[in-house]
Amino acid sequence: MHLAYYPHPSRPELTCHRCGVSNRERFVHPFTPGDCVGRPLDSPYVTGVGICATCFRDSAEEEGRFLHEPEPNVAAWANEQLKAIGLGEEERRADIEGISPLLANAIPDEVLQPMLAGFYPKVGLGLAGMARIGKSSAMAALTHALVLQNATNRAPFVPLTPVKKIFWMNWPLTCHQWRLDGVHWSIERTIAKASKVRLLILDDLARETERRQASEDVAIGHLDAIITARDRDNLVTLWTTNKSEDELVDRYGMGMVGRLLRRSPMKWIDGADFHPSAL
Ligand SMILES: [Zn+2]
Repeated sequence: MHLAYYPHPSRPELTCHRCGVSNRERFVHPFTPGDCVGRPLDSPYVTGVGICATCFRDSAEEEGRFLHEPEPNVAAWANEQLKAIGLGEEERRADIEGISPLLANAIPDEVLQPMLAGFYPKVGLGLAGMARIGKSSAMAALTHALVLQNATNRAPFVPLTPVKKIFWMNWPLTCHQWRLDGVHWSIERTIAKASKVRLLILDDLARETERRQASEDVAIGHLDAIITARDRDNLVTLWTTNKSEDELVDRYGMGMVGRLLRRSPMKWIDGADFHPSAL
């Protein structure tokens, strides 16, 4: 997947102090070269003097400073990261160009635009609708875009460090594993991670085998704990489901569904008009 450069929709305009290029056209790092390291790119306040990658390379050469080059193969690096945060092989191949117009139009700009620009969205989203209309692929493509664009923006300035703030969780598989493992120590670690990461993707919610009352199912209790923790900390979750809101409430109860929807509202994709062969 090769991404064009997408400017962040709500960042103030910033220009490179050397060549004058704007961050509407090309990524401009918001800080002067000396203090790029360790500064968050999505800090709401732009301070310092911006510089673009081209001028950063030139300035580093002139001043004889260490440059983080030769740059890694950013696309391959991003792919490795996606694997590490939990995306399966097919999910890693999901392409932003391949998202059907039906789904693309359903994704609110406030989620789509920051992710394409390589930033974390400030609100979450649940994509709901019939099976096999590409909801998971759309989430995977967005995640891919975020990781790839963020790395592409950063690579000239700082060494790329492993992505640790995103976690992709296939819910039916996780639920199955938790039911099998009972009280295995790794469960606690997974719950803690899912509760705290900056961006959690919960794929295929409510597709787990229905075994008994949700209130008696330990795995669903864990899910409730994760959703509650994320709600309390205002953390964004992206999720998908084949169920309607009423069906989710029937399965999980009003409380848990309400806590999920508060930060990550559900968007129902009406699949009635969807004809895969027509795409
Ligand atoms: Zn420049």
